[in-house]
Amino acid sequence: MRKPILLVLFASLSLSAAAQSPNWLEAYRAPAAKLIAASQGSDFAWQRLAEVTDLYGHRLSGSVGLERAIDWAVAEMKKDGLDKIRKERVMVPKWVRGRESLDLLEPVPQPLVMLGLGNSVGTGPAGITADVIVIRNFEDLDKRAADVKGKIVLFNVPFTNYGETVQYRTTGPSRAVRHGAVAMLVRAVGPTGLRTPHTGSTTYAADAPKIPAAAIPAEDADRFQRLQNRGVRIRVTLTMEARFEADAESFNVVGELTGRELPNEVVVMGGHWDSWDVGVGATDDGGGCVVTWEALRLMKTLGLRPRRTVRVVLWTNEENGLRGGNAYRDQHMAELKNHVLMLESDGGVFDPAGFGFTGPDGARRTVTAIASLLTSLGASKIEAGGGGADIGPSVTAGGIPSMSHLVSGNYFLIHHTPADTMDRITPKQMADNAAAIAVMAYTVADLPWRLGTEK
Ligand SMILES: [Zn+2]
Repeated sequence: MRKPILLVLFASLSLSAAAQSPNWLEAYRAPAAKLIAASQGSDFAWQRLAEVTDLYGHRLSGSVGLERAIDWAVAEMKKDGLDKIRKERVMVPKWVRGRESLDLLEPVPQPLVMLGLGNSVGTGPAGITADVIVIRNFEDLDKRAADVKGKIVLFNVPFTNYGETVQYRTTGPSRAVRHGAVAMLVRAVGPTGLRTPHTGSTTYAADAPKIPAAAIPAEDADRFQRLQNRGVRIRVTLTMEARFEADAESFNVVGELTGRELPNEVVVMGGHWDSWDVGVGATDDGGGCVVTWEALRLMKTLGLRPRRTVRVVLWTNEENGLRGGNAYRDQHMAELKNHVLMLESDGGVFDPAGFGFTGPDGARRTVTAIASLLTSLGASKIEAGGGGADIGPSVTAGGIPSMSHLVSGNYFLIHHTPADTMDRITPKQMADNAAAIAVMAYTVADLPWRLGTEK
């Protein structure tokens, strides 16, 4: 009686195992295990990120720190023994923050915490002194249009998710100025931290005057709200030296491991080497750059040279211009048809979770099978929606399958803040993420068929 039941059980087990694990995957178990063991056995990636952020600090476009970090990366790639290491020239905008302050005058004189928004204009040396009007959302702004003239508008909009809340930072100044506002403050775009302001780009409408714009912490926005609700006058002086200088020369950094059979077919991975000028850009996005770079270094160190080329790109100027991502597309236009996959890591380095993927269904089945090699890292999830800001222009122009590196962590708590520092990331997180990316990139680059050509 028992025997048939057991047979049925074994048959169903082996069927489900076969569905999850196609035969071709067997050849990749050993290299995957080697990559994971090598990565986890070392703190090399964490030390590399600590070195660049300690030596060069923040890496805003046009800064000395960014260009020195670019030259340092080229020298380090040479030490790694990567192939075809080069700098690809990109002219980038140079926005300079200068000194800035926000002083409360009424109801009581006090200096406040603030951060000017990237791309903002300055106030002039005397600053702007005006009353603050606290606005809850764009609808509220339109309703209270008659009260806005001559005032500093504060958008006090609690953080829900980045895509939703960031519109107050990006479009707020031009919306407010249409009703006569003289400057704009925005409640920092991120979950409430420890009185942490968040910078980030603002974008002026072409047909509206430009007014200075800055972020204040959630705690201060809530205080202003309470003061206004009590009918108390809020008067401040905002002073910002922010300005643009002439465009500066910068570079995307490129290094690769040339494919052993199909060198012209390329898997590209990377992050953006530039950062905001607060904190040191460890999470956004030095970490993403170093874990993808480390994935390539691990292949090189272990002598795992895949059939196709794997290329790492450290893009410049993602934060306030995207000139690096656009330049890569333009400079590699003829080669985009040979890009098999592009992967970006720009969501921080926390515990690995897997990858987002956009591409044909057959390719999704393939990368889902590859991700099953990452179960021990907790990185076996393949979600809808791959991509990234820097790979976006190339992916769109070339119709290239795209991947985003997924992690689980509170990215937006430290995003664009002075708290984006090295100590937010552990050596294990660097190693685990580098391992996950290495296994994915190596296997895609080595497949017997080109990803995306599955039946
Ligand atoms: Zn970023």
